[in-house]
Amino acid sequence: MNKEKRGEILRRLRDANPHPTTELRFETPFELLIAVLLSAQATDVSVNKATAKLYPVANTPEALLALGVDGVKDYIRTIGLFNSKAENIIKTCRILLDKHQGQVPENREALEALPGVGRKTANVVLNTAFGWPTIAVDTHIFRVCNRTGFAPGKNVDTVEEKLLKVVPAEFKIDCHHWLILHGRYTCIARKPRCGSCLIEDLCEFGDKVYA
Ligand code: SF4
Repeated sequence: MNKEKRGEILRRLRDANPHPTTELRFETPFELLIAVLLSAQATDVSVNKATAKLYPVANTPEALLALGVDGVKDYIRTIGLFNSKAENIIKTCRILLDKHQGQVPENREALEALPGVGRKTANVVLNTAFGWPTIAVDTHIFRVCNRTGFAPGKNVDTVEEKLLKVVPAEFKIDCHHWLILHGRYTCIARKPRCGSCLIEDLCEFGDKVYA
């Protein structure tokens, strides 16, 4: 895909949604970190339901530690992988208190050293909590980038590298959210909604679906 088409795609996504953000509910970087940890292989809706009950009771490392692994599990057992997520959350809280004065570090290396936090989670936190121009690539973004030809790649790391190279600076901060929302609601996995897609004329996918 050429530069002009990419620019036009980003302009249209921006015009349709000038201030995109995550669908995970959060008020602080710590709440966002925990929500992103919980969202692995789970929907944002299911995470929001759990955190709506959990955060009024505990939304700091101290408070979650006081709940303990079993206490955290009680709030998140509707979410997949809740056993390992509860354990990772408690370990993360301990590290935040021991090494980072109870704060979420604005630092990729320190974030990726937290249990259950990989590159994608670190990218989301750096972007959404701290305003870094990072682009986390999840399953939706990976699909959209490959289908459309916007930034094709064999794995999420190569797609991320490509996006960082080809997305102009003015679009970088919001690119993750535009692409994720496009993948979640329009360019959906099983049956893309090409007939109501606002970038249909620019997309290079060979098997568009108009039903
Ligand atoms: S035209 Fe279809 S395949 Fe292309 S981005 Fe839109 S929904 Fe996805």
